[in-house]
Amino acid sequence: MNAPLLELDKVAKRFARKPDVVERVLARLGMTISHPVVHAIDEVSLKLYPGEFVGLVGESGCGKSTLGRVVAGIHDASAGTVRLQGQDVYALDGEARRKAFLKVQMIFQDPYSSLNPRMRVRDIVGEAPVVHGLCKAAELEDYVGSVLKRVGLDAAAMDRFPHQFSGGQRQRVSIARALAVQPDLIVCDESVAALDVSIQAQVLNLFMQLRADTGATWLFISHDLGVVEHVCDRVIIMYLGRIVESGPTTDLYADPRHPYTRALLEDLPRLDRRKRAFAPVQGEIPSPLNPPTGCHFHPRCPLAGPRCQRERPVLKSVGEGRLSACHLDDGGVE
Ligand code: SF4
Repeated sequence: MNAPLLELDKVAKRFARKPDVVERVLARLGMTISHPVVHAIDEVSLKLYPGEFVGLVGESGCGKSTLGRVVAGIHDASAGTVRLQGQDVYALDGEARRKAFLKVQMIFQDPYSSLNPRMRVRDIVGEAPVVHGLCKAAELEDYVGSVLKRVGLDAAAMDRFPHQFSGGQRQRVSIARALAVQPDLIVCDESVAALDVSIQAQVLNLFMQLRADTGATWLFISHDLGVVEHVCDRVIIMYLGRIVESGPTTDLYADPRHPYTRALLEDLPRLDRRKRAFAPVQGEIPSPLNPPTGCHFHPRCPLAGPRCQRERPVLKSVGEGRLSACHLDDGGVE
């Protein structure tokens, strides 16, 4: 296999709540104040290879969007290493780091709030390529017109503002903005979740077409296992800041190994399902402010044993290209 395009090694992201006025006063008086810390990502390691279309799946609050933002350079990791094409991006400074992250672009869930309402599409799509020397100012119109054409919009769209488009067309403008800087890696954060089902299908088809045209790598973040099954080569399942399972899509859907993946897949409507083999996932995802000990999934897992409460399971190989983090695959739960 080729060298990875992106490599995360034990990446963590924590957010500390800022002290309020009372806490600041108490701190000035010399009292020790503890600030709650959200453990959004907890020692995540993964590799993405050139040209892959990889799904990152989990319930809302599992840390998948935060992970996408770390990958895209919007958030810096609190710990761990991020390598792009073998280069440790945190060892780079200023301009060099910005240049490295220019090769990673993100497409957000809500195109309306992610596009500047006061800018015309010409500037939304063309600003970054001109600033970064990918096209000359004199060639801007031709360049923007060709990018808009690739996403299925007419060149005349460049004179319009975001509010003059439908939701699906606005998302196409967001995709054009990402493509305009010729990225190697595109992070889609729930990019079709806010669209009507028929428009979702059109945008997913566009992703498939662009995948073939650009050769870029895609990290497709979604809570929708049905969509992921149809578009992704490989799937990564996250639970409360940790990766719990990953593998080729067909194998993982046919034979999920981790109890959380099995529970998630039980919620997926199937025409061919006669009876449930596993209970759908119950209850709420716990707070990342105070995650459960050991295996984070143990309070909701029907197969949990004493070991699950005290020991964190590690990701282990459970087949060709497959990893799972469960004590059941590593000596048992007692
Ligand atoms: Fe369930 Fe234990 Fe496996 Fe966690 S380690 S998924 S609690 S059986």
